[in-house]
Amino acid sequence: MSDAYTGGCACGAIRYEISAEPLFSNDCQCRDCQRKSGTGHGSYLTFPRRKDVKFTGEARHWDMVGDSGNVKTRGFCPVCGSPVCLPFSAMPDLFTIHAASLDDPGRYKPQAVTYHARGHAWDQVDPSLPKFDKMPPG
Ligand SMILES: [Zn+2]
Ligand SMILES: [Zn+2]
Repeated sequence: MSDAYTGGCACGAIRYEISAEPLFSNDCQCRDCQRKSGTGHGSYLTFPRRKDVKFTGEARHWDMVGDSGNVKTRGFCPVCGSPVCLPFSAMPDLFTIHAASLDDPGRYKPQAVTYHARGHAWDQVDPSLPKFDKMPPG
């Protein structure tokens, strides 16, 4: 088994350690990710089992309804405001983290670009990645 994925927010109030490999890693150019990241897209690693995640600190949560109709929860640090995680109430076992919250963001290996149709000309992502106009099915 490879090393755990560790990371947290900018101020250190929130830390996590995940002993698993991500199920899916994606750059998402949807409007919600643009607003939340303050730039053209968000970069995420999604892990399959909540029980593999050790989380310390108290994230503040904000729920929004995505275009899929599912509730997406934004988990961020109430002290420094860094976005850290996204629990999904529709799929409570999945646990998604922001790539740049990793201690070693170089471990992020994007596999696809989602909501590419919403992307801006000034936000170029890796041209070799498969692109989806929305979320890929399944
Ligand atoms: Zn913080
Ligand atoms: Zn998005």
